[in-house]
Amino acid sequence: MHKLILKPGRDKSLKRRHPWIFSGGIARVEGDPQAGDAVVVCGADGAALAVAAYSPQSQIRARVWDWAVQNIDAAFVAQRIIRALASRDALQLAGVTDGVRLVHGESDGLPGIVADRYGDTVVVQLLSTGAERWRDAIADALAGLSGVARVIERSDADVRALEGLEPRSGLLRGGAAGEPLIVSEHGLKFSVDAEHGHKTGFYLDQRDNRLALRKLARGKSVLDCFCYSGGFALNALAGGATAVMAIDSSGPALQAARINADLNQSNSVEWLEADVFKTLRAFRDAGRCFDVIVLDPPKLAPTAAHAEKAARAYKDINLLAFKLLNPGGMLMTYSCSGGISPDLFQKIVAGAALDAGVDARIEGWLHGAADHPVALNFPEGEYLKGLLCRKQ
Ligand code: SAH
Repeated sequence: MHKLILKPGRDKSLKRRHPWIFSGGIARVEGDPQAGDAVVVCGADGAALAVAAYSPQSQIRARVWDWAVQNIDAAFVAQRIIRALASRDALQLAGVTDGVRLVHGESDGLPGIVADRYGDTVVVQLLSTGAERWRDAIADALAGLSGVARVIERSDADVRALEGLEPRSGLLRGGAAGEPLIVSEHGLKFSVDAEHGHKTGFYLDQRDNRLALRKLARGKSVLDCFCYSGGFALNALAGGATAVMAIDSSGPALQAARINADLNQSNSVEWLEADVFKTLRAFRDAGRCFDVIVLDPPKLAPTAAHAEKAARAYKDINLLAFKLLNPGGMLMTYSCSGGISPDLFQKIVAGAALDAGVDARIEGWLHGAADHPVALNFPEGEYLKGLLCRKQ
């Protein structure tokens, strides 16, 4: 097999089983590996440390398949998918939802591979050269093992460009769906646009947090900022909120939200197509108030390099939200940025409360749902973090 030899002292993170090998740590390449080929990663002393997928154009030059050197082939990939599916079965989500993340990248030992099941359809994202290399094996395993009617590819995320890969989307296995995809989540129905929606079509990671909002919404006025297809807003209404307003800047997202409102006969949400940053400011100037505010912005800091600018944006919206809350009101605030750690996020929210001149306390730490596991050796997997804060 081809080899990557690390520079002296650059094997530390690999020895802690972090699965990424950055280009700056590599002394030399032995052999002639092509994009997606398996390479043995060796310390400066020549000791083999891992087998990884080679990505010549990316700063993340290789992603670890396994710590034991072995042949990487279709059977290896299928075994990993079997393991991932078994852990989802163990979660016993059948009565809760038919929308489940089956494969969650590095945390499932499948770097760059994401697969979400929506009823009888799996939507897969192949975001690394290793994933691209094993496209057929992945599609076969997902189609064969999960028993779905089709596998659709949505490999159109920007990160593919960093790997030197073109966007790719379309049907990979099975026949086209005759009707729109609809998932059921904690008793509510959501349409999923697997072809054009964000990511694979729906934000499954917020499933339990949407339910948490439902549980605290009774009798409250709720503002859902960055609402996408209305997940939080419709849960607030299901929980007995007296008034729900939801804001998103995307017309298609709000169109989906209206379809979802119809599906659940929840037609009293006020949908607003607008920029959240500007709207919160206008609400502050107009003296508007809410009992509960949800802030679930898009990824403002994809990597740590964007953290500073993103921190200002997070602080801005959290500060405004604290001002708009009634006394005793709740702020449910999230960051899904890999570049913002949970610790930093808490500091940003604390700074926002301070500058807003309000006293607030944390009543809950919020995370992605259990089908989005975080490998202990891969803290980047904890991209979604949230705080439930009460304004005093
Ligand atoms: N809470 C949603 C997911 C939110 S995803 C759920 O549970 O499904 C983030 C959303 O923010 C996207 O729908 C995107 O269109 C929207 N968005 C991005 N920038 C925005 C802005 N400046 N103002 C309003 N919405 C914005």
